[in-house]
Amino acid sequence: MADIDALKERIAAFACELAEELGAVDDSSALSWLDAIESEAVEISNAVHAELVKQRSADRPAAAEESVCPECGRSGRYQGPRERELIGRRGPLTIREPEYFCACCRKSFFPADPIDWR
Ligand SMILES: [Zn+2]
Repeated sequence: MADIDALKERIAAFACELAEELGAVDDSSALSWLDAIESEAVEISNAVHAELVKQRSADRPAAAEESVCPECGRSGRYQGPRERELIGRRGPLTIREPEYFCACCRKSFFPADPIDWR
């Protein structure tokens, strides 16, 4: 993992650029000036979170040609990477993951996602 202090410096520089680009705070529909700033920051941080998850999930190592179907235990064939929409901790996300297809169950599965193994 990258040096956390270096990351914090880059985040601070990015936040400074954003603050300049966003201009004056519009608190006309907020509870207060601070509420307006926090709402804006939450929206931006959620967008950064979603983009980081999308990009990092695309960096997965190459998938095997076959994987065990979690429902029937037979072998499923690799279909290629697929983008999938899901709800993460901070809202909607798009992730990229390997998709397998089980001919017996006639459906796709995603073995890298532990939720699918239950
Ligand atoms: Zn199956």
